[in-house]
Amino acid sequence: MKRIHNFNAGPAALPLPVLERAQREFIDFEGTGMSLLEHSHRGKAYDNVHNEAIALLRELMGISEDYHVLFLQGGASLQFCMIPMNLVPKGGSADYVLTGTWAKKALQEAERLGVGRLAGTSEKDGVFPRIPKQGDLDLDGNAAYLHITTNNTIAGTQYHDFPDPGSVPLVADMSSDILWRPIDVSKFGLLYAGAQKNIGPSGVAVVVVRKDLVDGARTDLPNFLRYSIHASKNSLYNTANTFGIYMIRNVAAYLKELGGLGKVEEMNRAKAKLLYDMIENNSDFYRCPIDPESRSMMNVVFRLPTEELEKKFIADGLAAGLNGLKGHRSVGGCRASIYNAVPMAAVEALVAFMGEFQKKA
Ligand SMILES: *Cc1c(COP(=O)(O)O)cnc(C)c1O
Repeated sequence: MKRIHNFNAGPAALPLPVLERAQREFIDFEGTGMSLLEHSHRGKAYDNVHNEAIALLRELMGISEDYHVLFLQGGASLQFCMIPMNLVPKGGSADYVLTGTWAKKALQEAERLGVGRLAGTSEKDGVFPRIPKQGDLDLDGNAAYLHITTNNTIAGTQYHDFPDPGSVPLVADMSSDILWRPIDVSKFGLLYAGAQKNIGPSGVAVVVVRKDLVDGARTDLPNFLRYSIHASKNSLYNTANTFGIYMIRNVAAYLKELGGLGKVEEMNRAKAKLLYDMIENNSDFYRCPIDPESRSMMNVVFRLPTEELEKKFIADGLAAGLNGLKGHRSVGGCRASIYNAVPMAAVEALVAFMGEFQKKA
């Protein structure tokens, strides 16, 4: 068996111990003689896993009892419409900050419902090289919420300080940086993440939402689209993605064992520093197009002198066991996604390869 270094943007690397645990438990789950995949989502064995996943996320992130922790389907993309459908009252609107492709998709869904309002953008010639500053924002004090995308997976930018939304709730798409460091959850009305980048496999979205927002949400919606229905059933209104939630449980248990999110942040910052330093110290060859203070610790984007060299870099990298270095097709270039599960050893291997490649070019 051979494992390669995985820099994919999502679905992305999972911690090896998490995969190994799943392998050990796969066929006979905790002595029940069945795989967890074969267990009822209403049975005791699964129920324990489900509640442990929630408890571990509460503990890791410091989520108080003022919030629900939900596991929903439809990825982050369904949240793009569920959020405005639930949280914007009749005749109201919601503010959106544009910082990349996913932020744009979120705004577009709100616009389809007739409730999206642009509160700021960092778009410049079709790209998003930075995170807007507080002073760049034009906030509506009557908005139902302010929506941001904390990490821009494609653009390679990240909020290092969250904006002050004033008196309206802050809503955040954290799909590609949830759990990367400790955050103050009480600053948010709602935060959500598709699991497949930093927290588990695809097919589950984690939604952390303040209970009073759920209580005040619109009720004139199909049941499946209502937070209050999922919350009242502990995310078991319909058959949950049991295996996906089990994997989230394993990831959360692993992060706790590592020492929690403070320790995880230290590791992530060290990885990102190594890679950004490599780029900066070789700026005659490698170039990061992102403003230094907006750079993502999760998705490091960079360019080489020509597109031909980039093509060769990506192909040679793959041949050397470095997978997923191609930038998103909409922006080109190169990208290394170095989420929680990507070990320092992988970044060291990448940096060594970059040095060799530059020498040969
Ligand atoms: C990947 C991604 C999404 C889309 O997630 P799905 O689960 O595929 O819907 C949304 N937002 C961000 C920031 C992402 O990185």
